[in-house]
This record gives sequence, structure tokens and C-alpha cells, in this order.
Amino acid sequence: MVKAHPIRVPLEPKELSRFWARIDKTSGYGPDGCCWEWQGATWPNGYGKLRVNGLNIGAHRVAYVIQRGPIPNGLCVCHHCDNRLCCRKDHLFTGTIADNHADMCRKGRQVVIRGEDNHAAKLTEAQVAEMRCRYVEDGDLTRVLAQAYGVDPGTVTRIVHGQKWKHAPGPICSPYPREGAHVSIKLTVHDVVAIRDIYADRHVTQEQLAVQFGVSSATIGDILARRTWRRVPGNVVKSPAHAAGSRGSCVKLTAIQIPGIRREYAGGQSSLCAIGRKYGVTDGAIRKIIRRQTWSHVP
Ligand SMILES: [Zn+2]
Repeated sequence: MVKAHPIRVPLEPKELSRFWARIDKTSGYGPDGCCWEWQGATWPNGYGKLRVNGLNIGAHRVAYVIQRGPIPNGLCVCHHCDNRLCCRKDHLFTGTIADNHADMCRKGRQVVIRGEDNHAAKLTEAQVAEMRCRYVEDGDLTRVLAQAYGVDPGTVTRIVHGQKWKHAPGPICSPYPREGAHVSIKLTVHDVVAIRDIYADRHVTQEQLAVQFGVSSATIGDILARRTWRRVPGNVVKSPAHAAGSRGSCVKLTAIQIPGIRREYAGGQSSLCAIGRKYGVTDGAIRKIIRRQTWSHVP
């Protein structure tokens, strides 16, 4: 027997509006591109959830009750489309768990009609692929793409992250947001993790990483200091430089070293290059320290 919370009928207006606010009826979801997909919270099993009458209820169950009526006792709400987030009335039916399983097995052998073949689809697969390339490879902004393809920005986001048009070609961007325009779009989440790991071993400079990954050393500095890509895991390099020092090339230095560098240069015995070599940073970094363009807070 299926155990599920009964849902009070009718739902209150505020519950109805909370439900509909989280439904995306635009095309591109599900195997035939016409699912109405739940955009709210989900359970780990992939079903949506919504708080109704103080209880967390499956979003598809709430959808059924709102659009079709009460769920017969002991029955579960199944999907014709096999898309657990789908809340579209005609994609839902009630059955036993055995019915649901048999239905899924049967459909597994069927050929499904995908997005482009569906009359509701606004975009073509070619456009989706192109949009993904423009986002990942050209760095076009979401709102620019939304305007170019005549869809809303949220749709673009879900397409480039592969939540919509899953079956269509084109590079899928990581679900992590691009934080700030100075983050190179060439980098992936894996690159960022690698950059932090490699740097944590202290065998390379930021400049070397910049060359290796084809980005500026300021970008590397931002990644290491977690000014960007904050949600991506990886080794955090903790040093005073990361907390309060300069960006870029001198993050290997610590606050303790700075007065020594300035004294050494003031003594007139060593060139910028020589000091840089000694401390493992560039002469430009040393020059900035001397001119107090960096580490200005250190005496
Ligand atoms: Zn559906």
C-alpha cells in the first residue's frame, strides 16, 4: 500500500498561488518538450515538494489534486512522461506502484517525440546548441541570449545548464554561476578545483597557472582567494595575502616579508628583479610593494 499524506481539498488560494508560481509551462521540458516543470524545492528522489497544510507533499500530487481532483485512496500519481518534476494535468495519472512500474517499462521501449517535433516548442535543437555555444564559448550574457532567441532569461539559464532540452546537443555549462565578469568563461568547475589543488602544493606561481589555464593571473588570484567561484570546492590557500593583500602576483608573500622587501630595496643593494627572484614573485610585484600600490596596510 502506498503511504502518502492526504491533501486537503480545496486548497487555499495562497497555496494555489505558491504552487503555480513554481510551474514553468514554457517548452523544452521532458521527453516531448511540453512538460510543465516544477521549479521549486525537490526531494533527493527527484520529485518536487511543496508545503501544504504544514506538510511536505509531492508537487506532482498537489498538481493532480488541483487539476484533476482528489487522489483515490492508496494510489500514487504517475507520469506518462516519466518526468518526475512534471505537473501537467494530462501527463499525470493515478495507479498503483505496480501500474507505474509497468508503465515505465512499457514506455522505455517506445520512441519518444522530442522537443523540436512538438508544436509547443519555440526553439529548435539547432538554436539550443547554438545558444549553449554562445554562452559557454563566447561568454554571451543570459539576457543577451534571451533577447536574441525570444525567450525569457530563466529559460536560457535552464537550457545552458542542461535542465531544459536535456536531449539536445551543445556544451552544457556547470550549474555553478559565473561570478563576476572577470572570471574567464574558458574555465570549468574542474579547472577551478585543479587550480586550487595545484596552487596549494606551492610548486607553481600564479603566473604559471595563468599560462597553463589560459587566463590572466588576476583571474587565478581571484579564484585562489575565493573572490570568484566561491561555491566550487577545492583547497583554500590561507595566508594574510589572501585575506588582505594584493590581487595577482604577490599572494605567495606574507605580511611578515613585506617590510624586509622594502628595506632591502631602500638599501640600494638589490634590483627589483633580484628581490623578485629571491621571494619567488615578479619584479612588477616587487615594484608595486615598494610604491605601496599593494600591501599598503603593512608598514
Ligand atoms: Zn510531463
